[in-house]
Amino acid sequence: MELLYKSTRSDETVKASEAILKGLASDGGLFVPVSLPKLNVSIDELAKMSYQETAYAVMKEFLTDFTEEELKNCIAKAYDSKFDTEQIAPLVKADGAYYLELFHGSTIAFKDMALSILPHLLTTSAKKNNVKNEIVILTATSGDTGKAALAGFADVENTRIVVFYPKGGVSPIQEKQMVTQKGNNVKVIGIKGNFDQAQSGVKAIFGNKELEKEMNEAGFQFSSANSINIGRLVPQVVYYVYAYAKLYAEGEIAKDEKINVVVPTGNFGNILAAYYAKNMGLPIDKLICASNDNKVLFDFFTTGEYNKNRDFILTNSPSMDILISSNLERLIYKIAGASSEKNSELMSSLAKDGKYEITADMKAELKDFYGNYATESETAETIKSIYDATGYIIDTHTAVAANVFKKYVKDTNDTTKCVIASTASPFKFTRSVMNSIDAKYDAMGDFELVDELSRIGNVKVPNAIEEIRNANVLHDTVCEVEDMEKTVKEFLGM
Ligand SMILES: *Cc1c(COP(=O)(O)O)cnc(C)c1O
Repeated sequence: MELLYKSTRSDETVKASEAILKGLASDGGLFVPVSLPKLNVSIDELAKMSYQETAYAVMKEFLTDFTEEELKNCIAKAYDSKFDTEQIAPLVKADGAYYLELFHGSTIAFKDMALSILPHLLTTSAKKNNVKNEIVILTATSGDTGKAALAGFADVENTRIVVFYPKGGVSPIQEKQMVTQKGNNVKVIGIKGNFDQAQSGVKAIFGNKELEKEMNEAGFQFSSANSINIGRLVPQVVYYVYAYAKLYAEGEIAKDEKINVVVPTGNFGNILAAYYAKNMGLPIDKLICASNDNKVLFDFFTTGEYNKNRDFILTNSPSMDILISSNLERLIYKIAGASSEKNSELMSSLAKDGKYEITADMKAELKDFYGNYATESETAETIKSIYDATGYIIDTHTAVAANVFKKYVKDTNDTTKCVIASTASPFKFTRSVMNSIDAKYDAMGDFELVDELSRIGNVKVPNAIEEIRNANVLHDTVCEVEDMEKTVKEFLGM
């Protein structure tokens, strides 16, 4: 049966491949599946499956207009030797929980789980819908997404990718990762401005109808790789199913035993994927949403009011420094009884006043969610205490989740087994991680710290880091904010 996707703000309804191509609905809403499909395989079958086989079993339920061959092709191209383990997403048991390591892809953060497959889903969708234009991905990045998108799209046929980052506004390792990116279809540009200006610049280019026409004449069209695309959400459902099946296969849980999951959350994409997995029938009990000092979501789960009117706090878990969690709209739509009217009202209020409040009925629908947050010092203490107790070293984002897990257990005495989404390698945030373990490390240089982390944690330095040690800078374009559009056109030879 065909599964269609509907906008959260109107009746606009499209097929999966169209939703992937469009990204956002025409009315500004997000595409959601009209109903959430059920898992069609038993846990015993899943227990025997590889990551790729699990991906097919889950994704075929969502992307029903893809043929078996098309989908299996996308999966095979995405989850290959780019990952440094055949398990793709291994589970590590430590300190009373199971860490689901989502950082074994090319940029050593969890964005790789979806961004390694999105380019293939996108080009397949383009073919299916007779799109002849070359797809041009345009992204503004504050660090992580840009590199993951570059790595995903590099040398993918019929695509080009342009990434803008604030020159001087990302970490030295992040910048080095981006400016050394190989690929004949990639362009990395530093702008003389901050991240907000980069993002506004990209939005302006997307919204320029005149440019759209010119692009079309030249055989190009823009698309976006950001986290509201269902082509990023659906692949994220897979690893929750995979983790559950692995726990069962290894005898850690009994058949149908419920587990909890803890997710370090920013844009609400990763935890929403866990919620979708639960709705598909996976035995997940509680969805534990972990925030850093930007605790909009904790306040929302506690009070029922979403309020972004507050100071933006820069933390050591920067990928969670977010005040508008875009993917939350999909949950709001669902708990509003799949009502695009109600959801639109709340989203207008968010756009206008920076806040909205849900009804008591809607709040009751959130009973399986638990929210809490970790301060900067709690995050650092958590890294240190888990390292001291077990030798296992986690990154700052994962540490936020580990800290919230402890708070949850203390609050509830719930002893349900728990999977913690481990979203970045500690090597990606080496300095913050090492400073948490001992202040003396602050005196060391970046790569010296990398080697020290490898030594004390007894883990190999990931390829992603080794590669940039001596890599050549391939991108040195810097432009004024006003010249972003011009720079894109130059790259496209227009
Ligand atoms: C993006 C990101 C997150 C937040 O994920 P969301 O899906 O946006 O909630 C957490 N940790 C890391 C390392 C990330 O890169």
